[in-house]
Amino acid sequence: MLADSFGRIATDLRVSLTDRCNLRCAYCMPPEGLDWLPSPELLTDDEVARLVRVAVELLGIREVRFTGGEPLLRRGLARIVARTAELRPRPEISLTTNGIGLTRTAGPLRASGLDRINVSLDTLRPETFRKLARRDRLPDVLDGLAAAAEAGLAPVKVNAVLMRDLNDAEAGPLLRYCLDHGYELRFIEQMPLDAQHEWKRAEMVTAGEILAALEREFTLTPDDPGKRGSAPAEAFLVNGGPARVGVIASVTRPFCGTCDRVRLTADGQVRNCLFARTESDLRGPLRAGATDTELAERWRRAVAVKLPGHGINDPSFLQPDRPMSAIGG
Ligand code: SAM
Repeated sequence: MLADSFGRIATDLRVSLTDRCNLRCAYCMPPEGLDWLPSPELLTDDEVARLVRVAVELLGIREVRFTGGEPLLRRGLARIVARTAELRPRPEISLTTNGIGLTRTAGPLRASGLDRINVSLDTLRPETFRKLARRDRLPDVLDGLAAAAEAGLAPVKVNAVLMRDLNDAEAGPLLRYCLDHGYELRFIEQMPLDAQHEWKRAEMVTAGEILAALEREFTLTPDDPGKRGSAPAEAFLVNGGPARVGVIASVTRPFCGTCDRVRLTADGQVRNCLFARTESDLRGPLRAGATDTELAERWRRAVAVKLPGHGINDPSFLQPDRPMSAIGG
């Protein structure tokens, strides 16, 4: 079990499979991209599979989400998913992706055992997409979403980040689009995780603003709070339901007290929080011949020291040195 000293148990593992991405979203990285991790530093497919197995078999992980960077850029993704699906107890397996390439990969990933998917979509306007993601790929993302639904990945969730004066007028249109297509939309407050360290609290579009914008067009009723559990999204029924919309208010309404997540970076570091300032190396011991039990013990120690909160709202908050793309969102 992965328990911390505040009584939380981590059962949800987020695994970053690469820090590379084929988009350059403004809230994540600069237009020129980043110095990507050198290949020898990345966990191999076998190493990922082994650490995921240790997490599931020895540490009580029940959900595995593959992310990045852009996980669809990882060649061995389908096989990694298949190996995860062979584990017992069988974890729930999900993927967070920008959707580019899903028209080709959604079917094979579903067949490999992928259960659910989250696709990032911040705008429906090609021009805004070009500005925000600095690539002209909106049609690929929309086609990817359709392919995910077609492949039977359910529910298809959409993640949207709103940025002031860029796409902050799109809360309503994005929700309408998702309702029309049967996707479940969640807005994520922009967090201080960009590689450029340009995040400014005053510029952030807050959950309150997003909900106010939606309420101008839709009737929102809080979904049963008893159902929320450790889910980061506060959920609302739209126009009486059953369709729902979520808001992940990591900054203005933090939910650290119910956090059940732990992260493994693409280079084999355990992070007990997105905003952790320290990491615990598993790759070194793994390559030096550590046993499963030794790896599990190291992992337990890494989670045991998790802080009570992410600290974004503390005056002394310092943004992590590693950007979201390396940590795995
Ligand atoms: N490339 C994949 C994608 O686009 O979904 C997976 C990785 S991405 C880092 C995972 C999620 O984190 C995306 O939904 C993205 O919008 C979100 N994200 C990235 N940077 C963020 C930030 N600074 N604040 C809030 N969400 C962010």
